[in-house]
Amino acid sequence: MTARGESERGLRGPDFVPLLDGAAHVTRFAPSPTGYLHLGHAYAARFAHDAARLTGGRFLLRLEDLDPQRCRPEFAAAILDDLRWLGLRFDGPVIRQSQRLPLYRQALDRLRAAGVLYPCFCTRKQIRQEIEEAAAAPHGPSGDRLYPGTCRGLAEAERARRMARGEPFAWRLDVARALALTGPLAWYDVRAGWVEVDPGALGDVVLARKDVPASYHLAVVVDDAAQGVTLVTRGEDLFHATPVHRLLQALLGLPVPRWYHHNLIADRDGRRMAKRTGALTLRHLRARGLGPAAIWRLLEPAAESGRTHPLAVAP
Ligand SMILES: [Zn+2]
Repeated sequence: MTARGESERGLRGPDFVPLLDGAAHVTRFAPSPTGYLHLGHAYAARFAHDAARLTGGRFLLRLEDLDPQRCRPEFAAAILDDLRWLGLRFDGPVIRQSQRLPLYRQALDRLRAAGVLYPCFCTRKQIRQEIEEAAAAPHGPSGDRLYPGTCRGLAEAERARRMARGEPFAWRLDVARALALTGPLAWYDVRAGWVEVDPGALGDVVLARKDVPASYHLAVVVDDAAQGVTLVTRGEDLFHATPVHRLLQALLGLPVPRWYHHNLIADRDGRRMAKRTGALTLRHLRARGLGPAAIWRLLEPAAESGRTHPLAVAP
């Protein structure tokens, strides 16, 4: 069977039944060009692609290249080449976050004007210490201790003085204040159903830094709205980030998509695939003579079983 035929058949047919409600879904694949795509990316791209194609919608591509230290043009070129090779055609132009900084700045200014941001002058080391010292530092859903809000209570005069002095700082979202503005929020995941935003599970996340003027959270929310994405498909490791995105959408008056957090593809030992898993990159598998159809066949058991990938072929 050709790659194209496999594409049309759909990798996870039954899982897309809830999407067949007559709406044409706009989805996106949004990798960071910090390495070569691996099997986990192929799965995520295919998932977004199929959700769009099966519903007569559109499949978009966005390169999340905000981090100039880690992103490289050769990886961006390789992403386009790998998608072409896989037979996953996307619609419209490629969006690159590095070219959209003024839009993120506008969103940040809007949040500042709404009074829901504060500058945080803490270094990483200080934050670790503050978390240790704050016995009641809240835990996030992943079990990590959240930022205890040390800089939230700084006096306005001190903020102004430290900023004027050129001290580096990050802009953090004052979640309590933000939720007081928006009221209770909920979001819809195709697999999990309605999920209420739990204020206690959200830390005061960073939305911008001095070196990188927009965080992942801010850029994703701005871009999904600008690209008209109606269904955000992504791995379940980002489930905990979605309440923050829902909150930002409410604050910025942006349309609210639906989400579909899918299972992650793991390696033979059950570990999440990372970019350092060189042997599982599409480049490597391709060099060993595998074609796109073989890639999809490899991913099929993973799609059915949930987490683990029976990668018997991995060298
Ligand atoms: Zn701080």
